[in-house]
Amino acid sequence: MKDKLIIANHKMNLNADDLNKYLDKISKINNKNVIICPTSIYIPYFINKTQVGIQNVYCYSKGSYTGEISPMQAKSLGVNYVIVGHSERRCYFEESDILINKKIVESLNNNLKVILCIGETLEQKNMLKTDQVLKRQIINSLNNINSIDNIIIAYEPVWAIGTGIVPDTSSISSTISYIRTIIDKLFPNNSVKILYGGSVTEKNIVELNKIKEVNGFLVGGASLNPDEFLKIVEVVAGQ
Ligand code: PEP
Repeated sequence: MKDKLIIANHKMNLNADDLNKYLDKISKINNKNVIICPTSIYIPYFINKTQVGIQNVYCYSKGSYTGEISPMQAKSLGVNYVIVGHSERRCYFEESDILINKKIVESLNNNLKVILCIGETLEQKNMLKTDQVLKRQIINSLNNINSIDNIIIAYEPVWAIGTGIVPDTSSISSTISYIRTIIDKLFPNNSVKILYGGSVTEKNIVELNKIKEVNGFLVGGASLNPDEFLKIVEVVAGQ
């Protein structure tokens, strides 16, 4: 598939002083398929300079929800993408598939493109439950959603996130093929992009980029270093 996506997830990293240098370096990237998801308060620095995603939203448009940000507010600032269902949200903030589904519905209603993260924990993998977990996450998260046109799936095995451990390429390709069969049953004739995420670095990107089932990458830690992120973009997008 052409037009692979490369998504940077900064999580709760970098500070205001780091941003000018970061932006200066990544201004070389002129590619609408590269999307940066900074910490929310830094989003205005990135708007009009890159494609921007927000790392999380709430499931309503407005109201008394101290500390939350709505899809409508993000869109009004020029944000085009949102990450939903990241394993850190599922784990540390106990987000359920039901809440994730509500966030997706509200995001789509506000014309944000959704990056839906799914993935199994090490325990689930060891119990041979990967397929079952992924199927449940997909079906529940996409409940009552009519079209997958504005959704991107990011397969992120939880045990690969931030650990430096990456599944072998054949298992990434077979798991992503499995995800595609589930999606195809729910949404026939779709052209959904399925990304891989979990310890992607400048060292392993050449190999990972050869997996034909993978339509792009979600990059956490390695996106914090602009030089390393640029190298990853160069391999994937040839830029
Ligand atoms: C992530 O958190 O989405 C991620 C892929 O992180 P890392 O690249 O650091 O494993």
